[in-house]
Amino acid sequence: MDSRLQLPITEVKGIGEKLAAHLNELGLFTVEDLLFYFPYRYDSYEVKPLTELAHDEKATIEGQLIADPVVQFYGKKKSRLTMNLQVENFAVKAVMFNRAFAKKQLNAGETVTVTGKWDQHRLQITVSQFKKGSAKSQEPIQPVYTLKESVTLVTLRKVIKAAIDEYLEDINEILPEDYVLSYKLPARRQALRQMHYPESRVMLKHAKRRFIYEEFLLFQLKMQLLRKLQREATSGNAQQYNNDTLTDFVQSFPFELTGAQKRSLAGILKDMKSPYRMNRLLQGDVGSGKTAVAAISLYASITAGKQGALMVPTEILAEQHYESLTSLFKDRAKIVLLTGSVKGKKRKEILEQIKNHHVDIIIGTHALIQDDVEFSDLGFVIVDEQHRFGVNQRRSLRDKGLHPDVLFMTATPIPRTLAITAFGDMDVSVIDEMPAGRKPVETYWVKGELTDRVLSFIQKEIQKGHQAYVICPLIEESEQLEVQDAIDLYHKLAEIYEPHITVGLMHGRLGNEEKEEVMKQFAANEIQILVSTTVVEVGVNVPNATLMVVHDAERFGLSQLHQLRGRVGRGAEQSYCVLLADPKNEVGKERMRIMTETTDGFELSEQDLKLRGPGDFFGRKQSGMPEFKVGDMVHDYRALETARQDAAEIISNDLLYQDERFREILHLIEEDENIAGKVLD
Ligand code: ADP
Ligand code: MG
Repeated sequence: MDSRLQLPITEVKGIGEKLAAHLNELGLFTVEDLLFYFPYRYDSYEVKPLTELAHDEKATIEGQLIADPVVQFYGKKKSRLTMNLQVENFAVKAVMFNRAFAKKQLNAGETVTVTGKWDQHRLQITVSQFKKGSAKSQEPIQPVYTLKESVTLVTLRKVIKAAIDEYLEDINEILPEDYVLSYKLPARRQALRQMHYPESRVMLKHAKRRFIYEEFLLFQLKMQLLRKLQREATSGNAQQYNNDTLTDFVQSFPFELTGAQKRSLAGILKDMKSPYRMNRLLQGDVGSGKTAVAAISLYASITAGKQGALMVPTEILAEQHYESLTSLFKDRAKIVLLTGSVKGKKRKEILEQIKNHHVDIIIGTHALIQDDVEFSDLGFVIVDEQHRFGVNQRRSLRDKGLHPDVLFMTATPIPRTLAITAFGDMDVSVIDEMPAGRKPVETYWVKGELTDRVLSFIQKEIQKGHQAYVICPLIEESEQLEVQDAIDLYHKLAEIYEPHITVGLMHGRLGNEEKEEVMKQFAANEIQILVSTTVVEVGVNVPNATLMVVHDAERFGLSQLHQLRGRVGRGAEQSYCVLLADPKNEVGKERMRIMTETTDGFELSEQDLKLRGPGDFFGRKQSGMPEFKVGDMVHDYRALETARQDAAEIISNDLLYQDERFREILHLIEEDENIAGKVLD
């Protein structure tokens, strides 16, 4: 489209080469990018009486500077600016970090409005934003944008304003008029302005509602179109597996499959037999037995004369899968492990075997599909922990001319209805039942820090020959601090327990090889206590570990705590989880109670959904769920559902291509590289 909106941002008044480079870092390249760079939050600065402020929560206060601010410098380039303010009849301290420059702007006697975290006990506020003058002089609704250090809020707002002034008239409606009318949505152009310059809460709400629907509708249309194209691109890859051989294999297992495993398997096998390419998500809580389902489906593919591949995020997981699959398969299939550490002659040999179909199953990291690997006849691919498997990898499979059935596995319990809606292009199977005889992890909530009782509990478990994880607090703002906490804790525990017990350390600043080395040592029980930040890998299986201690557990969401707890309880022994937490509010306490009461991941995820604010549901790291700019899958679930139904109607009636009303939308969809790739397929 040759629209002015596609012009580079340097065309916007006030953006030179240097600023453009910084804006590029934020992903902003065109005028359109800039216009659609929406605030992620809107603050309203409502000044409340001091007595109504909540401890540890965000607040805005207005006060008069009793004296000039004082600046102290410390460390490299670090500073602390302290203001003594008179607020009502109190002296309040306002502290601001690394903004020493503000001293010049602030003088004794002046009024200042500050926003930040309120400390009720010390009558102190840690300032995140300040403005000279009284609160009344401020705009009531203040958009907050994601920024990098190199671009300030003031600069960004200035260039967005310039872009709006010059280019807003180029924004055109893309939704059909009857949709806009029947959903009572504001026009695109007006809504865009409101997103950046909200006139009122109500107008902002409608503007958001508009873009949420637009975003969800486009997403659903793409998903459903992809799915349709995928189904139509049959390429005859029906896999005629041998049912008898398969049954024989299942009967060789030391256990009987659970009902849920059987149901999931039936779904997968049905897809394999059909000429359509499988694109299925297998969801199951940690320990629910996904590996067995994976093994049986891989075997089905082998009996159909194909090769299968299993891709996992890390080498250590690859090795673990290799071991468990080898013991399940015995000599039924030739399995190889192909990771980055397999090198030289050995690697060459394996590659040769894969190419000549002398191996049936290849297990490796995601690099498996990118590198030099040539398959003879790849029929089936399993991707473990699907959220780390991106679009690029899918494309590289396709680029190799491979169109296998693909099964994604994830241990993140997502409420089923949500999953079906979110993964519009996938079928979903859920293993919602645990194998019988599992001992649920006993969970305790201990208030506060590592007490002597907890320390001796750790010691007792280790004397029984078991191992323990000790997880450090999550520090959202700073990985640096998080790592420092882990190191401190490591030294503390090493002092207490060594030399009889070996303590190990794991955190995000270690290189991949170091991490793997630590995990190997832990798996081999050369380390008994592993101090770690949350990097401790999802899916890591050390059945001898029976104790999980989580520091500052109140900082984690329920789903995340559940994932952490899932590292134990994987063997025959009784396992324990100790949550050290001192939650400040009722929601926090409720979370701890829920953790001690249930070990069912799906129930936890439902509870989490209820307790948490919208948007937080999937935790800090998005668990492979699609990311939306404006919409939130949980909070805006209804809009998502509406968009899904509308998309279904549009796709199934082929309106996208046939009906003029959808011309603009069709343009946008065809720009999507996935769709484009599929259409070319
Ligand atoms: P997941 O990958 O879903 O976390 P796994 O597949 O690793 O779980 O299974 C966890 C453990 O449960 C393994 O030791 C496995 O042998 C065992 N297991 C799997 N299915 C069953 C079953 N139906 N009955 C009993 N044990 C099972
Ligand atoms: Mg597993």
